[in-house]
Amino acid sequence: MTTPETVILALGSNLGDSAETLAAAVRDIADYPGISLTRLSPVAQTKPVGGPEQPDYLNMVIEVVTELAPLEVLDLCQETEVRHHRERKERWGARTLDVDVIVHGNHQCNDERLTLPHPRAAERAFVLEPWLWMDPDAQLRGRSVAELAALAPDRDGIRRYEPSSSGESAEA
Ligand code: ATP
Ligand code: CA
Ligand code: CA
Repeated sequence: MTTPETVILALGSNLGDSAETLAAAVRDIADYPGISLTRLSPVAQTKPVGGPEQPDYLNMVIEVVTELAPLEVLDLCQETEVRHHRERKERWGARTLDVDVIVHGNHQCNDERLTLPHPRAAERAFVLEPWLWMDPDAQLRGRSVAELAALAPDRDGIRRYEPSSSGESAEA
């Protein structure tokens, strides 16, 4: 245990009832001992980036404050994935739940299990846009998230998820 750090987590789902899975995962993470949920973004509906052909995703980010170390945070993300039936098949394939650690305070990490900041977050609108909706002043590696989001190649594939207009699943 050290001093409290602000941690950004990115959640994604494109199998099963994704909206319900994201909501339940946020509750699970917030209930973890040592975690305080401080902010959460609206949900984005996003076109898949890379990987095989697959349904649209629902994505969101949350901000938590914690004294847990980076690897302890990764552990709780992976436990949450398992609780929501994550199976690892092909890389970047469809999944019930993915939870990535985007930043953990100013920590830099190159552990074999954990790279911080997340190495691909800076070019992913599906992470940057919801983060920006939650926190217009967000910074990543000394750059504004707004600026990075404007440059992200997948930017046109992002919109606010509207449950009423898209039915029960992410496949509108
Ligand atoms: P991507 O990492 O491109 O978003 P992915 O989320 O689909 O792809 P996973 O299969 O979920 O990839 O994770 C592969 C491994 O990445 C995990 O076992 C984990 O140890 C490692 N990893 C490294 N850095 C991070 C991070 N910042 N957040 C989450 N996992 C990480
Ligand atoms: Ca991911
Ligand atoms: Ca992941």
